[in-house]
Amino acid sequence: MRESNCIFCRIIEGEIPSNTVYEDDLFRVILDVNPASKGHALILPKEHYANLYEIDDEVAGAAMKLAKKLAKHMTEKLNCDGFNILQNNGEIAGQTVFHFHIHLIPRYKEGKNADILKWTHETFTPEEMREICDTLRLK
Ligand code: AMP
Ligand code: ZN
Repeated sequence: MRESNCIFCRIIEGEIPSNTVYEDDLFRVILDVNPASKGHALILPKEHYANLYEIDDEVAGAAMKLAKKLAKHMTEKLNCDGFNILQNNGEIAGQTVFHFHIHLIPRYKEGKNADILKWTHETFTPEEMREICDTLRLK
């Protein structure tokens, strides 16, 4: 399903231009218009899913397989020194476009964005950690 007011659906339909680096039946991969680094790209499923909570399991699996393939390919072509895979869900998590996408972010030793994706730590007591673990344990 495509959504007419979704910018990524419109890119997929070709209504909005993009720098497309890969396309198949399920995905289009484009360069991010405001790149965090040289080669920053986005994997867009052609179907509209708002986020990870909504995406079809098969498509999610295929997206991660494609991320692996592209990470290897881009590392070779760009000669980058590392790679981040990033996927935001919800405004508080930094999501600004509500069509599921995976960021492919090449990282370079030399570059002005060495500090992207660094965060400070929160501290929890051992009891709190146990409680959190109990809450999260998946059976
Ligand atoms: P997120 O913040 O995870 O939702 O990521 C959305 C990303 O989409 C941002 O990094 C934007 O720079 C990028 N973006 C927004 N509009 C376009 C566009 N028309 N073409 C390419 N990338 C875009
Ligand atoms: Zn969409």
